[in-house]
Amino acid sequence: MNNWSPADLWQQVIERLRPEIGSDNVELWLRPVEAQACDNHLLRVKVPNSFFFDHIQRNYQRQIEGALKSLAGEEIALEYQVARDLKSVLPKNDPVETPSAQAEFSLSELNPRYTFSSFVVGTSNRFAHATAEAISKAPGKQYNPFFLYGGSGLGKTHLLFAIGNAIRKEFPRARVLYTTSEQFVNEFIDSLRYDKPDAFRSRFRSLDVLLMDDIQFMGEKGRSVEEFFHTFNVLSEARKQIVLSSDRPPKELVAFDPRMISRFEWGVVVDIKPPDLETRIAILRKKAELEQISIPNDVIVRIAEVIKTNIRELEGCLTKMGAFAALTGSHLTVDIANEVLKDSISSDIDSPIRVETIQKVVAEKYHLDLKAMKGHSRTKEVAMPRQVAMYLCCTLSGASTTEIGRAFGGKDHTTVIHARKKIQAMIEKDTFTSAAMNELIEQIRVRENS
Ligand code: ADP
Ligand code: MG
Repeated sequence: MNNWSPADLWQQVIERLRPEIGSDNVELWLRPVEAQACDNHLLRVKVPNSFFFDHIQRNYQRQIEGALKSLAGEEIALEYQVARDLKSVLPKNDPVETPSAQAEFSLSELNPRYTFSSFVVGTSNRFAHATAEAISKAPGKQYNPFFLYGGSGLGKTHLLFAIGNAIRKEFPRARVLYTTSEQFVNEFIDSLRYDKPDAFRSRFRSLDVLLMDDIQFMGEKGRSVEEFFHTFNVLSEARKQIVLSSDRPPKELVAFDPRMISRFEWGVVVDIKPPDLETRIAILRKKAELEQISIPNDVIVRIAEVIKTNIRELEGCLTKMGAFAALTGSHLTVDIANEVLKDSISSDIDSPIRVETIQKVVAEKYHLDLKAMKGHSRTKEVAMPRQVAMYLCCTLSGASTTEIGRAFGGKDHTTVIHARKKIQAMIEKDTFTSAAMNELIEQIRVRENS
């Protein structure tokens, strides 16, 4: 075998595969992979998260191994290391460690903290709350399916659990299952791998209540989505209660077939909006009370004023304050609040991120230098990351397309618009791209705040 370093070997693999799988896919999926070591007929690679792992394994494994064989003249197997568990990437949307052993319908899988009584009702979520409560009193009757959508950290998961907890209490024999779409897909794939699709099917199809969280992560059109559709149909024909949550309305779930989307809309579709100031204050009060944090009113109001769009962050901030008070033995004041809030201010969705930060993080991710990012080369290796960066600038920086174009070495604003549309289309086409983007965004935010 040649004396290539693992990184060089990987680079060779990439170039071999480029004509076969296309530059876009190479840049998106293979470039972020780090080859770490190669010995004993084994190439160890590090992938950013389990989405990458699944996607690469499912789609490119064979080709990669083929390329390795022809480059090295011997069989080389791939061994993956997942840099970060998906859970830490997505679950901005998921406060709960969702247990994987859901084979039994045990109570433990519903987080008991999330109930109707711990949910603060305001104008932003009144309808969602009322529907959820009605369902918990008469599951499978009127509002079926219930499709709940809204931004991250606005209480969707909380309401799903609240429904589950209330039904369990009222109807102890009901078979209630909370799951996420990601988990559904994983379990389905496992069931195929271990030759047990029937067990999987009968488990899901015998439910009385299915609470399916974050359906936007269901993935590309494929067998899992088909399987989900069957499950959905069986349950809804048997008039079993189905509750679905998503970060976007049904129509924007592009991974799903239109006929499926129209089924989602059969029952009731409700959105949750960001809470108004009054509700944010009420949530903080309730949380402080639950956690027994003593915190003056003006401090609560200050937090509620600053953090507008995400209740999870609101809570995180309160917890930080509580810890601060406990550690220092001091009373919390608005000044201290401002100090603690500094971090949160820039991570709140409203606050813009500098174009330079975006350029830097994207350049690093794709192993480009900044000059190339701002330069005029149109080779795919450069153009694609540049478009990704432009797209992210459009969504995160608050700068105009003209300003963004200028920051990329004086490009025209139409170039920026084109990039935005292109990446947007890719994100809509497959959730894997959108997951990769989410991860980039997370890294960018971390960098901006550090
Ligand atoms: P989502 O699933 O929409 O991303 P979550 O349900 O995980 O959001 O909510 C994030 C956090 O905010 C959770 O800790 C949840 O308990 C809390 N939360 C959200 N909405 C409310 C509310 N109306 N009242 C009290 N707590 C809330
Ligand atoms: Mg959630």
